[in-house]
Amino acid sequence: MTDPIMFSEINQELLSTLRRDIERRLGWYLERILTASVEHGPFGVALLESLQAELPKTSCDNCGACCNAVSIFSLEYHRIIRDLMGRLPPDRLKSTLRMALHFDERLAILEGDTGLETWAGERRLRCVFRDNEVHVCRIHSVRPFACRFFGLKKVNSVSEPSILMDSSSFQCNQNTSTAITPPHTAVNSTSPGAFETRECTRVIELSPQRHPLTQELLFQLQERVAANSESFTPFPGIDPVVFFPFEFWLYKAALGEAQALRIYREILVPASTPLTDLWNDVRSDYRKKAVTPNVNR
Ligand code: SF4
Ligand code: SF4
Repeated sequence: MTDPIMFSEINQELLSTLRRDIERRLGWYLERILTASVEHGPFGVALLESLQAELPKTSCDNCGACCNAVSIFSLEYHRIIRDLMGRLPPDRLKSTLRMALHFDERLAILEGDTGLETWAGERRLRCVFRDNEVHVCRIHSVRPFACRFFGLKKVNSVSEPSILMDSSSFQCNQNTSTAITPPHTAVNSTSPGAFETRECTRVIELSPQRHPLTQELLFQLQERVAANSESFTPFPGIDPVVFFPFEFWLYKAALGEAQALRIYREILVPASTPLTDLWNDVRSDYRKKAVTPNVNR
């Protein structure tokens, strides 16, 4: 059986072609991107707001180490673009989107310490919305779920801690936020038999959490967004995916599905260690299934 998941190094030729194309017709790109979000309209914003209200407000050291390109739902993407359109003067909007399109300028090899884990040599795409000079997220009020979940205390039963931890790190990997594994894990003293996990110990909840943030609640929140978001199949024979980096959605709006998926496979996946690892895991599962004899036959 042919392996459906194929990627290796970044396709530099495709990257150079993109760079030239953006500079040659930036206005065309911007028009396509903005038109797509205008046509999408405010659909889904009320849903996102109501689900986000389920999460506590937080603060952290704001070091920015986890501000690597997050994978997001299409609803979140359009909300961000519409927020930028509503807030930024035309020249700032243009420069922000140009910077987002030129994502190759934000490719980084991370070396650092998050307090839990030392990163050495991880490939990441730094988030276009992180302002490292003034240490802010430029889209804080409309930041995606990936950023809101990150570092929150997650609770799970002691009988199945690995499920939550796997799920948590899967989400981080999917989101290419910061995959700090293993998450910080501690026994919950008020509820013996439960485990608490966090990806970053420097996050503090400022308001009470309405419900314990369990794996089930995380999935429920995300499922409702996923049901209203677009999905695509990046590799043949693989289930459709609803999470893609912001940059994928930009190129999808400008160049269409086929080109955006090619950019995802040939640039964005190899440019990100978490995405590469994620698809390597899927490939490995696929190979196992492909060679597993069908016992029901
Ligand atoms: S969540 Fe943690 S890693 Fe991310 S910016 Fe805050 S302190 Fe830094
Ligand atoms: S959207 Fe904001 S919080 Fe999320 S990764 Fe980017 S800069 Fe960080």
